[in-house]
Amino acid sequence: MSKPIGLNTIEKLHNIVGANGSTTDPDIIAPHLSEWRGKYFGHTPMMLMPKSAQEISAIVKLADEEKFAICTQGGNTGLVGAQIPFGEVLLSLKRMDAIRAINEADDSIIAEAGVVLANVHAAVKNIDRQFPVSLASNGSATIGGLISTNAGGVRVRRYGMMRNQIMGLEVVLPNGEIMRELSPLRKDNSGYDLKQLIIGAEGTLGIVTAACLKLVPSARNVFAAMASLDKVEDAINALRRLENETGAVSAFEIMNCQAFEYGLKNLVGSKNPLSKIAPFTALIEFECAADTQNCENALMALLGEGLFGEVAISQNIAQFEAFWQLREGMSAAQKPEGLAAKHDISVPISAVSEFMKLAEMGANKIVPNVRIAAFGHIGDGNIHYDVLRPIEMHDDEYRKFIPSISHEINNIAIGLGGSISAEHGIGVAKRDEFLAREPSAQLSLMRKIKALMDPNNILNPRVLV
Ligand SMILES: Cc1cc2nc3c(=O)[nH]c(=O)nc-3n(C[C@H](O)[C@H](O)[C@H](O)COP(=O)(O)OP(=O)(O)OC[C@H]3O[C@@H](n4cnc5c(N)ncnc54)[C@H](O)[C@@H]3O)c2cc1C
Repeated sequence: MSKPIGLNTIEKLHNIVGANGSTTDPDIIAPHLSEWRGKYFGHTPMMLMPKSAQEISAIVKLADEEKFAICTQGGNTGLVGAQIPFGEVLLSLKRMDAIRAINEADDSIIAEAGVVLANVHAAVKNIDRQFPVSLASNGSATIGGLISTNAGGVRVRRYGMMRNQIMGLEVVLPNGEIMRELSPLRKDNSGYDLKQLIIGAEGTLGIVTAACLKLVPSARNVFAAMASLDKVEDAINALRRLENETGAVSAFEIMNCQAFEYGLKNLVGSKNPLSKIAPFTALIEFECAADTQNCENALMALLGEGLFGEVAISQNIAQFEAFWQLREGMSAAQKPEGLAAKHDISVPISAVSEFMKLAEMGANKIVPNVRIAAFGHIGDGNIHYDVLRPIEMHDDEYRKFIPSISHEINNIAIGLGGSISAEHGIGVAKRDEFLAREPSAQLSLMRKIKALMDPNNILNPRVLV
């Protein structure tokens, strides 16, 4: 529980950030107290919106002295509740939204923490480069949030996670010191790589204020295909074949029949480019340096061999976007179908098929006739495995089964050598499961690091460890 702050502290904080940098107005704060799924409704004495690392440093020093806690928020798209304050002072990075530099020769961009991902994508087009991290929350998620959650998304197999895109960070540490390493260095083996500790720490070890990001060549021709499949194993075979034969696969996503059906039913304007709904549908994106013929030939070869049942290739940008809207709308499409137990698991790619079989049996053992909507990044072994209530059951009745279902699904993932959080983090939503499962050697080291860096537990105190 965070220590309440008095009027005197509110005044001091107000003086640090100035008139535009803080508010106690409930109407302005309200959108920051819940997330898009409506799972958490928090509260805070005030919201701070600093404009610089120096202001954040002064805020954090005061928090450390007076021992009040801070909850950091970027775009508020996080899926594990960590960005919603429950009594802490809310620190929003939304006013730190400058792109400080784009350097063509270094293939780098320095963006402040509050810059929205889509704005980074747009900014680097001017120099004919791209920033490869892409997810359905592109239009709201911020650089600081993406770094703090080590976000994944749809291009991880080709380009890696957020961690792999970072050359340098500027971070306010829990004692208020500013660690600034924003040089676009591709190699630096001098000492511990401290930025890696901050990446994925979910705001518990420091507040990211800016980052130096790596850029990659932009593709000349990009297109997408939808293909129907009978089995998960076929998807994995197809992915490996297409990678070998084209070297151009930039995303390979799958949706099971239930997830795909909800997309077609509930997403306005969506259309199935294939003639029927197969057990699995793959969305495959290619980034081609030259023309697309080689990639199209490779798809047709797999169709000829019967690995794909059907294939539809996007013929123009509108179709390309329509294919992606179906995939990116998977979570939204489930909402009208009732309450779901949601999971973001990963297993070794070789175990995805086994996971799908065991998880379906496990969930049905707890509540017969649940509906499974599974989709995600099969090339990373990362499945968003959502277990929806049986049609005839009421949400309120189903709610009490969710902890047992999640425990079972997580057990299955762990039993196959997997993780209970592939890309969304632990936050508050998965903290109990994480603490109960994490091996003691790792957990004890994480706690020592947290205690060393943040002895007064002022940064995101309810999160992770
Ligand atoms: C429709 C949808 C699709 C999504 N798809 C994906 C996906 O494919 N892959 C994926 O990985 N995630 C996905 N997400 C989750 C989410 O977008 C990511 O976790 C994202 O990285 C969060 O960024 P944010 O700016 O919204 O951070 P927030 O939600 O505001 O915060 C997330 C965490 O980061 C911390 N934080 C935020 N900014 C800072 C900072 N400057 N310094 C320190 N800590 C900070 C917060 O305290 C919190 O712990 C999706 C979310 C939605 C809504």
